[in-house]
Amino acid sequence: MPEIPEIEILRRECQEKLAGKRVAALVARPSIKHRLGTEQACGALVGMRVSGAGRRGKMLILRFDDRLAMVVHLMLRGQALLLPDNGFDFAVSPVGVIFDDKTRLEFRQVGLRIPQLVVKEGLDALPEIARLGVDALSPDLTLERFLSMLEGRRGAIKALLMDQGVIAGLGNTYTNEILFAAHVHPERDIRTLNPEEIEAIHRSILPILQRGIELGGSSAESFLHLDGSPGHFHEHAYVFRREGQPCRQCGAIIQRTEVGGRSAFFCPKCQR
Ligand SMILES: [Zn+2]
Repeated sequence: MPEIPEIEILRRECQEKLAGKRVAALVARPSIKHRLGTEQACGALVGMRVSGAGRRGKMLILRFDDRLAMVVHLMLRGQALLLPDNGFDFAVSPVGVIFDDKTRLEFRQVGLRIPQLVVKEGLDALPEIARLGVDALSPDLTLERFLSMLEGRRGAIKALLMDQGVIAGLGNTYTNEILFAAHVHPERDIRTLNPEEIEAIHRSILPILQRGIELGGSSAESFLHLDGSPGHFHEHAYVFRREGQPCRQCGAIIQRTEVGGRSAFFCPKCQR
């Protein structure tokens, strides 16, 4: 699933490549068109220009004339691609925006979460945005704040890091790598973590996410940049999907287990 580095990459690319483009048409598979937004909003979009791109957790937000916002969740394998407009295939892309410069933005493999068009003022009231915790890339995620998030909690630390209502934007790839960098086992109960371990986890979050962005994101699943090129973070992962292979730091064999129904990868020697 695309996580905060991948969506942040797309946000930057949309800001750079889409801002200023004028909408010629909003296209969608007929059976889902009514779910994109009100008829009024969909109609108003035509003629508007992309005024910017934002992000809330793992959601990409495209703004139009600073009045309408399109909320895009790429789910597990979604892609957002900017292509020359040479015809639209609903079997491949259920939704897209055609611009008047003969390019189109296509959303592929978004599953049931098709993009939603809302008035900008209504953005924060959307349930999936209102419920989000502190953004993982935000300076608001201080050590103090992180400590207070963990206070009184129980359960595996990895599950907490992936809880979007606590910290928004982390998913399975990056939480595995953050816990490896912090030398903390993903199954550790929050109540057993000492202050040094909590600090190590907190200290690992930003550098791992920044490295994800620098390496163009992870394409272990199907993430692609706006131009269709893949990212390379997954090729440099220390533990994610490396079970059976030697640890890049100590040579022990990376193992896999399950935490909260998701795969957890760890080095039995480096992580306690
Ligand atoms: Zn190791």
